[in-house]
Amino acid sequence: MKKVIALSSILFLISIPTFAQHQAEVRLKEQTPTLVQSELLPSQFNQQKQLLNKSSNEDLVLKTYTESNIGKHYLYQQIHKGLPIYGAFLKVNTNKTGGVLNSFSTLVDVNALNIETDNSANYNYWVVSDNNLLLAKAYKNGYEFTLKQNNGTILYQKDNRLFFTDTIIKARVFNPDPLTTAGVTYGKDGTYRNFNDSDYTLLNEQRKWVNIPAQFNADTFYLKNKYAAIVDIKSPNYIPSKSTKDSFDYTRRQVGFKEVMALYHISEVQTYIKLLGFNNLVKYQLKVDPHSSTADQSYFSYDPDTSLHFGLGGVPDAEDADVIVHEYTHAISHSLNPTDIIGTERRALEEAICDAMCCAYSKRINPFLWKNIFGWDGHNEFWNGRNGASLKTYENKVGDFYSDSEIWSSAMNNLSEKIGENIVMKLLLNVIPQLSPNTTMPQAAKIMYDTDSITNNSKYRWVLAEEFVARKMGDFYTGTNEVLLNKQISLLNSFGFANGTGNATIKLNQAGTFNIQMYDVNGHVILTRKNINQLDLNPTEFGAGLYILELNHNGKTAYLKVFRHN
Ligand SMILES: [Zn+2]
Repeated sequence: MKKVIALSSILFLISIPTFAQHQAEVRLKEQTPTLVQSELLPSQFNQQKQLLNKSSNEDLVLKTYTESNIGKHYLYQQIHKGLPIYGAFLKVNTNKTGGVLNSFSTLVDVNALNIETDNSANYNYWVVSDNNLLLAKAYKNGYEFTLKQNNGTILYQKDNRLFFTDTIIKARVFNPDPLTTAGVTYGKDGTYRNFNDSDYTLLNEQRKWVNIPAQFNADTFYLKNKYAAIVDIKSPNYIPSKSTKDSFDYTRRQVGFKEVMALYHISEVQTYIKLLGFNNLVKYQLKVDPHSSTADQSYFSYDPDTSLHFGLGGVPDAEDADVIVHEYTHAISHSLNPTDIIGTERRALEEAICDAMCCAYSKRINPFLWKNIFGWDGHNEFWNGRNGASLKTYENKVGDFYSDSEIWSSAMNNLSEKIGENIVMKLLLNVIPQLSPNTTMPQAAKIMYDTDSITNNSKYRWVLAEEFVARKMGDFYTGTNEVLLNKQISLLNSFGFANGTGNATIKLNQAGTFNIQMYDVNGHVILTRKNINQLDLNPTEFGAGLYILELNHNGKTAYLKVFRHN
């Protein structure tokens, strides 16, 4: 719907832009400098809004309208005699009920200008130039946008190649790897193998189109953005791919394929951690060499300079998002905590955090075998990868940091299943700055438990405690008071419920659901829940007394008592 409010009176209430003081510019860049933005006070806007009258020559036309958590956002284009005045807008932001929060204006007082008259040609815009309002035609040539007078004089020119140093390219990548999207394991029926990094059809078919932020400069797209730059640091030497088109379509055996893989997944990890609320990590353009050796090895280096290196041996590392995400998480960790990592357990923790991130990342894209760490790069004839579904406990540690990392990464994956990977990753990113060069796993467990208390008001303490106790990482009060139905259902923290200090939790110790009815001592039903996996009872919602819980799971029934005192 076209919303129109009149312009003539609104000019009354805004300060008139200082267009008349500027010298004529033949080639203007980015923003017509003659249009100066001024802020309108909400009170001014509200007072004057009702006074607006429509005049025949002047209009404001609603150009865009959006809604957000804040409220409503309007952008009006100034129109004079049916044509838009280039760059002349009124932006109005209101709260959800329509109260004006602020507004910004580049509107022009046309009465103060000499207005060109010419009915002979079809024009697209008015352009303010000196004291004149001139008629102009718009031309688009590639990335160049030009406004010209009928006699050919250029009034305004915008070069998007200069204006948008960042742009978007299209590329085909494995997302996260070809086995996950095909839903198969490595080497299934003799297919889906590395085949010497060749253009094997079944693998090439698993490439998916994605968009990647990238750089555009003087006719050329480069594999660089604010997070990473594809560079050639070490042999084998390949000049990083670039293109005059915005499409980077490589088959898997081509070097460019590894390059777009690395740039894409690094950018996506940044998108993910921003979603978790971490906006300032790895704030520099990390150098990435996707073909840094012929060995089957990748690493993050931070001394003397930060860079990421991917090896081409075995399945090339940069063909598996797990490897890219793992290595980039080292950079994230270094950005959160730039101290040295010394102890073997601390190294195991570091590897485990990076592995937990790549599991969380994969699970979000596609949960198929998400606990297989390095699902394409490993778990094959080249190496075993790592197991993010290990049952190993702290007592099983052997002093090798890669092997021992599975204790912690598998614990994190279990937690992801129970409380969601976003909560776990957020906790972990808050744990990292607290780690010392020699933190042990039990210490890290305690830190994570305390972090939940600080950031989540201990919301997940029972789940964390259960996992850490099961992994033998220390004594955590799990608060399990009773287990029922052959250990399938637990009642946690009935003591805290009784004295009003915490929720009691009734939970199924596995996937699936149960039904529950709660009775008071007189046998009246006071609560019914069906098909749930967990129930939290908040003590503030229950008066003093004894309550009976009737649970049904898989056709079996059990009873529990909970007590709430005064
Ligand atoms: Zn690592």
